[in-house]
Amino acid sequence: MYLKQIEQLVVLQKVDDEIVLLQDDLKRAPQQITELEKRRQDIEDKAEIVRDKLKYLNDQQKRLDSEIESDSARLKKSKSKMMQVGNQKEYHAMMREMDNLEKQNRGREEEKITVAEELSRQNLELSEVNGLAKELDSELSIARQSLDARLKQAEGRLTELSSRRKDAGQAVPKPILQRYEFIRSRLKNPVIVPVAAGICSGCHIAIPPQAFIELQKGIQILSCPNCQRLIYWSEHIESETPPADDAVAAE
Ligand SMILES: [Zn+2]
Repeated sequence: MYLKQIEQLVVLQKVDDEIVLLQDDLKRAPQQITELEKRRQDIEDKAEIVRDKLKYLNDQQKRLDSEIESDSARLKKSKSKMMQVGNQKEYHAMMREMDNLEKQNRGREEEKITVAEELSRQNLELSEVNGLAKELDSELSIARQSLDARLKQAEGRLTELSSRRKDAGQAVPKPILQRYEFIRSRLKNPVIVPVAAGICSGCHIAIPPQAFIELQKGIQILSCPNCQRLIYWSEHIESETPPADDAVAAE
């Protein structure tokens, strides 16, 4: 009788282990999408910055072109007027002005080269960013599809598990089942743990020798005096799953 109950509790524990894993997985799955979406947004922001730079550089280029053009026209006009200049003073003033115009346009030509270099750098950057965006888009669409599939699968498995849970629960007396559920609501998984060589595998603390003797008798379902988990002697049932690491209470 005792062993049967312990056995069923261990089955219940195994089902609950899987439920916990599945629920964790279900919780994490959308987070992966959120993360990808955030990375996608970062790339979009970066692309926006590069596009702004490109727009500025193109405007610069246009401005330089139109300034060069208008000063060239002025220069041409001045050259044609040179012949009609009356005196020396006027002639020198005109020469100075033409010198100035030429100098300014030379400066602009140099600036144009710098702008063109920067333009090609930024265009390269943009195409890299666009490539990354494309990669992430396909990663995202795959992730979304697989999330849907995983959610469906997990829901199905959870339904299955909850019916297996019911079956296992039926073989356990109600007060013990209630104790199990109570511990489950208060402590981190697992609820029922083996005691090997007098050590509770839920909290890794030795149980009192008298309690260990009682446990080995296998008459009554006992709790660990330290972590309150249900305990059984490891020799009574073969355990395949390693026990939990700590005994932190779930708030
Ligand atoms: Zn314990």
